[in-house]
Amino acid sequence: MKTIIEPFRIKSVEPIRMTTRAERLECLRDAGYNVFLLRAQDVLIDLLTDSGTSAMSAEQWAAIMRGDEAYAGSPSFYRLEARVKELFGFKHLIPTHQGRAAERILFSTVCRPGDVVPNNTHFDTTRANVEAVGAKAVDLPVPESQRRQDPLPFKGNMDVGALRGLIAEVGVERIPICMITITNNSGGGQPVSLANVREVSAVCHEHGIPFYIDACRFAENAYLIKLNEAGQSERSVEEIAREVFSYADGCTFSAKKDGLANIGGFVATNDDRLAEQERELLILTEGFPTYGGLAGRDLEAIAVGLQEVVHEDYLHYRLASVRYLGDHLTAAGVPIVQPPGGHAVYLDAAAFLPHVPPLELPGQSLAAELYLEGGVRGVEIGTVMFGRRDPETGEDLPGPMELVRLAIPRRVYTQSHVDYVVEVITDVYHRRESIGGFRMTRQAEVLRHFTAWFEPLYAFGT
Ligand SMILES: *Cc1c(COP(=O)(O)O)cnc(C)c1O
Repeated sequence: MKTIIEPFRIKSVEPIRMTTRAERLECLRDAGYNVFLLRAQDVLIDLLTDSGTSAMSAEQWAAIMRGDEAYAGSPSFYRLEARVKELFGFKHLIPTHQGRAAERILFSTVCRPGDVVPNNTHFDTTRANVEAVGAKAVDLPVPESQRRQDPLPFKGNMDVGALRGLIAEVGVERIPICMITITNNSGGGQPVSLANVREVSAVCHEHGIPFYIDACRFAENAYLIKLNEAGQSERSVEEIAREVFSYADGCTFSAKKDGLANIGGFVATNDDRLAEQERELLILTEGFPTYGGLAGRDLEAIAVGLQEVVHEDYLHYRLASVRYLGDHLTAAGVPIVQPPGGHAVYLDAAAFLPHVPPLELPGQSLAAELYLEGGVRGVEIGTVMFGRRDPETGEDLPGPMELVRLAIPRRVYTQSHVDYVVEVITDVYHRRESIGGFRMTRQAEVLRHFTAWFEPLYAFGT
């Protein structure tokens, strides 16, 4: 076996800026120790997100020049619509400026206060949009998802028994929609099997519940199905993806992930009446139905991205490069969620810093330390993101897990960048016993992780 190489060469480069440890300490203080509040130019390797950070191809840039900016009926829309119909198969395409706008339009159209929406694991914006319309977001991950160190292939699956239980408990009238997120981003970036999608779809349809897919990373999920699910290895990724979507009534999509674009998204559906209501709302908040908050050139970039993202040379390299980071960290003894996900490696902050209790925010400590050590920016997915302050008692409640996600932008970093990240994390790991916790000094009501301020409970940076 030869080295798996990047299946591209570099035509345009973007310098990244080196900083000193003292500068980074100052930057962190100015940002209230919240890595979301750092200036990107002060970050060396930015693994905050894989969202909107992809490098576009020469073909995408060429398509951007073909973008037609007609307010209504742009050919760019029809090119995107044709590709979405071919790959996703849904009847109606409703473009939006990004994934959460698609979520808002979907949930505010189908949900009423008191409703319940099941998902394998809601992504943060998905949960927030469900809750914003007064419905309850319920996560039903399989129990294996909790076995963080076990490299099982489909830990992103939904617990079908728990779904049946929920339907029996709250009644179908209160479940206007059921979703499954591929790959399961907040659940460690783990894939969902074809068998699980099929089964969840069958349970939904048996009860007359519309089944939707949060499809942000459908191509990475399809490639992991091809690699790891029995009987799938001979099929093309496109064929597998089409089958996945064939079980659903619609989807939401952020083109900032597997659209290989820097902005954009859509909601798609087979339901004519719903599409009509969604378009009305779209006109109110996003724009005319053939551009939905995007420029024509963005629609073109997404249309081409949706061609390129299913190329198997690309996916082979993509999954191998994420696994490379995970395997090297594992070899250094660093605890990560196993196996590495499709788009990210998740450091297990609870195991990394076992002496820091959840309410002292071990993931926040780790994220701040990675930046201090080497200018590497990851993101806490733990008590800061998913814990809450009980509105009645004022008591702080921990999140279900303590992770730091290192998301890998698509086609952006090379192997030596990843080697550097491994060195930074290993250095922090070696001094883990001297690392303590944090407390939050300022927080917003919703999605607090984006803007919160923190204060270290130990001698940070000394
Ligand atoms: C990114 C993401 C979203 C929201 O998309 P945006 O484009 O960031 O608004 C929804 N669900 C999942 C699983 C995501 O990863």
